[in-house]
Amino acid sequence: MPCGAPMQATKFRAALAAVALSALSLSATPAHSADAPITESDLAAHIKILADDMFEGRAPGTAGEDRTIGYIVGEWAKAGLVPVPGSKTPWLQPVPLIEAQALTASATFKVKGRDFALEDDGVILTGREAAVALADLPVVFVGYGVDGAGKVNADVKDKLAVMLFDNAPFGDKLPRYRERRQMLADAGAAGVLVIATDALPWAQLRDALAGKTTRAASAKAGAPISGFISLEAADALFRKAGEDGAALREAARSADYRGTALPVTADLAATTAVRAYDSHNVVAKLPGARPDGKAVLFLGHWDHLGICAPEGEADRICNGAVDNASGIAVLIEVAKRLGSGVRPDRDIYFLATTAEEMGLLGAHRFASDPSVPLKDITVALNIDTIAISPRGTPVATIGRGKPAYDAVVREVATKLGRKLDEDGEADAFIQRQDGWALGAKGVTSLMAGGSFSDMTLLQKFLGSDYHKPGDNYSEAIELGGAAEDADLHVGLGRAFADTKRWPGK
Ligand SMILES: [Zn+2]
Repeated sequence: MPCGAPMQATKFRAALAAVALSALSLSATPAHSADAPITESDLAAHIKILADDMFEGRAPGTAGEDRTIGYIVGEWAKAGLVPVPGSKTPWLQPVPLIEAQALTASATFKVKGRDFALEDDGVILTGREAAVALADLPVVFVGYGVDGAGKVNADVKDKLAVMLFDNAPFGDKLPRYRERRQMLADAGAAGVLVIATDALPWAQLRDALAGKTTRAASAKAGAPISGFISLEAADALFRKAGEDGAALREAARSADYRGTALPVTADLAATTAVRAYDSHNVVAKLPGARPDGKAVLFLGHWDHLGICAPEGEADRICNGAVDNASGIAVLIEVAKRLGSGVRPDRDIYFLATTAEEMGLLGAHRFASDPSVPLKDITVALNIDTIAISPRGTPVATIGRGKPAYDAVVREVATKLGRKLDEDGEADAFIQRQDGWALGAKGVTSLMAGGSFSDMTLLQKFLGSDYHKPGDNYSEAIELGGAAEDADLHVGLGRAFADTKRWPGK
């Protein structure tokens, strides 16, 4: 993709259409029986481009998004993929997002009618709208905010609910703090303050929240104001109100706890920069030779963190070479092999998701509005952070456990001379990848490859360049395992798209 000024949206779409048309003639290469192996240099060529500073770290809603999408569409079109027929926005699925950045905030309290000033940095607030100001809110400490049955445990309507961060010590599978905070908002709380935990140092939490937060536009709105209060600040407030923080937390450990109304009122105000915009998933199809209504879905996220370091740093761009330019490189080369070799029986869909780094938002969007009914997707194969391990690394599979599927992975891997890693360690990452969004809706989702097999190598990456400006393209990036994993995915695509070999249930 040549560099230049960011294109206007309409110009950009026209450019996409032109790319697609010009590529049609290129895709009619003759079929051959064996797929040429995917090499390290095939992958490096794409990673070098996608992780170039020109792509600005591939943040959703930036010029980097347009360039990234343009590149992926161009390469997929060359591979012989087509837009999903009937799509109103060919190649693209809009993903509406809302970004919020806290600008100013103030929290003041009255205890038994008298002003009580908290220490300056003890509270962080974000408003749901650009400007929110709430006065005289009654304050209630709600413990975990839910009872043993997972229901909201106190009357919080039009109040400020003060809730504990940690998971409740009672009950199985009770919701985590984000969901509990949402439940309190749904129950009518005007504000929700989460008491920070010892496990998360306040300074670190404050820095993390000072940045932008992004949610799907379709997500439920939270309370008008929400935020965090430090443990010290909360204890000081409780003390002033005649309560003991430790005793309140102890009482909250009971599944029957119903909250404690405090003789406190709060005035909260926040200004927030709120921006609504559309990012995009890229969706394409390789039409099958003998389609039977079932489909294989390949996916991987194109987005990364964009400009991630403060002004003044030498390198401010998180280029995401490994995370996940490497996965997109694999998706491009897999599309080229499947598009130019013997045409698979079933339709194969390719999805490059946006906003994975913001919480799998693009994958959730696809799962709620899929290009092909979810029940017809026989398998989803996700590819993320694949440039980790050398050639010869065994194949670990996130999402193992269905014997028929595991047998296909074993057969394809074995044929390629790969060993299998079946110790189950890889499953620790199951919620941290896009396949989770589809798995949650019943689609069998696998992430197979070497990078989640050697935990020492993976942890080495997670503890160093991961999500840092250091995740750059360089010749030092290990692509041997990625090349083998790319061949593995060509094989998996062929196996799962073969109507005689795989029933497609
Ligand atoms: Zn990441």
